[in-house]
Amino acid sequence: MNLDLAVIGGGMAGLVTARTAARAGADVVLLEARPVVGGLVGWHWVAGIDLDAGAESFATRGGHVAALAEELDLPVVTPRPAPARVLHAGRLHPLPATGVLGIPTDLEAPGLLEVLGPAGLDRARADLSLPIEPSTAELTLAELVTSRMGPAVLDALVRPIVRGVHSAEPEQIAAEVLLPGIAARLQAAGSLTGALRQVRAAAPAGSAVAGIDGGVHLLPAALERDLSARGARVRTASPVRTLRRGADGWQLTGDTWQLGARQVVLACPPQAWGFLGESDDEDLTVLAAAGRAWPEPQTADLLTLVLRAGDLPEHDRAGTLVAEPGHGAKALTYTSAKWDWVARAAGGDRVVLRLSYAGGILTAGTQAELGLRDAARLTGTPGPWPAEALQGMARSTLHPPAPAWASAAAREPVQAAAGRLVGLHLTGAWWCGTGLAAVVAHATRTAGETT
Ligand SMILES: Cc1cc2nc3c(=O)[nH]c(=O)nc-3n(C[C@H](O)[C@H](O)[C@H](O)COP(=O)(O)OP(=O)(O)OC[C@H]3O[C@@H](n4cnc5c(N)ncnc54)[C@H](O)[C@@H]3O)c2cc1C
Repeated sequence: MNLDLAVIGGGMAGLVTARTAARAGADVVLLEARPVVGGLVGWHWVAGIDLDAGAESFATRGGHVAALAEELDLPVVTPRPAPARVLHAGRLHPLPATGVLGIPTDLEAPGLLEVLGPAGLDRARADLSLPIEPSTAELTLAELVTSRMGPAVLDALVRPIVRGVHSAEPEQIAAEVLLPGIAARLQAAGSLTGALRQVRAAAPAGSAVAGIDGGVHLLPAALERDLSARGARVRTASPVRTLRRGADGWQLTGDTWQLGARQVVLACPPQAWGFLGESDDEDLTVLAAAGRAWPEPQTADLLTLVLRAGDLPEHDRAGTLVAEPGHGAKALTYTSAKWDWVARAAGGDRVVLRLSYAGGILTAGTQAELGLRDAARLTGTPGPWPAEALQGMARSTLHPPAPAWASAAAREPVQAAAGRLVGLHLTGAWWCGTGLAAVVAHATRTAGETT
């Protein structure tokens, strides 16, 4: 007998899809290749503390993630308000507190002159007087920012944020994707500064991000428990090996099992679609080929350091983004200054920092030295930190997929092929965009399409 729904992939997208369908009364199985659910939302154990080793916060827009956490009895917490900095031209500068994606909304803000230089600031201020082009709807984020405010704003402020948050270059993303409605607002407001002030005014009051007391990694674990309590089957260490259309839905096989389901959700990215394999089903073959053409994922390394307190000169910063590409860390978060729960877990005599790197830079032999060097550089500490300051360290390597907006040319064939496969649905960050806010909202909608 066929189940109602098989969900392939036990990251946040698959877990939320499965739970939403199970709540609506569907008979659901979730299949996850790895021994644990969560996917990119994981944890690592550092000097006796369980710390997030992937997502550590979520955007509060839409309210979907906070609502989910509350349903699962996980306390939502807000980070301590703290300014962030950017490392640009070898110096640390404050990021404008009222910016949107790093784009300043107040061109008189203190610190802007320092980071942009006199010519860069003058060019940014030209935004207030330049005429609005009739069509800005098709512009990339880079084109929008450069045409209104010049290259200094793009390179010093916007690029490090887009790289750090979306693992992409501003040249790769349409402005409308990250700033929905920006073209219309620009026409109405007459300047980018004015348009972004409207965006800020329209955002809900309060912090733009929130976290979970104890870590965001508690979310997948709680979702798994909730699914099991609702009678859904969660099968970990169960990679799907083949997916085929059957007489009444879909047939799935793994290493030692097979099952049938009327509907199937692909909640894993195209790089994992080996299960579509070679078959005589033309539509599946077309989907498999479209998946193979998807942009390659970028590997990322997260390095968490637990350090002796007292070596760090200041603790009131959210972190530092790096503007220049290079071989060091691309961002640092003062985790114990940002989250009360981390400060409590670390105790008064230790601090926790998290560094993120592009994949392939760190090795087991070099990570301590590079981590200490970058931690000093990005916190503004003179000289390298002493090796004895290091109380514990852990590295997690992640393979985030290229999200769909990275290439319209990749998205359209997948959309077309999937559209011909009745009962097959797509969800996940690779499809709807990076970040838990987008993933949870899309997965909830996808589950609705299966019932
Ligand atoms: C370093 C880093 C930091 C981040 N920080 C934040 C943050 O602070 N805030 C935020 O909102 N977002 C953050 N994100 C993004 C966020 O983590 C992701 O957008 C989200 O977790 C993606 O979830 P997903 O379910 O779409 O994909 P994934 O988590 O990749 O899940 C896909 C799952 O499919 C499974 N799978 C693959 N093949 C098979 C198969 N054949 N059979 C069965 N299962 C299979 C995989 O094992 C995996 O568990 C961060 C991402 C990274 C990489």
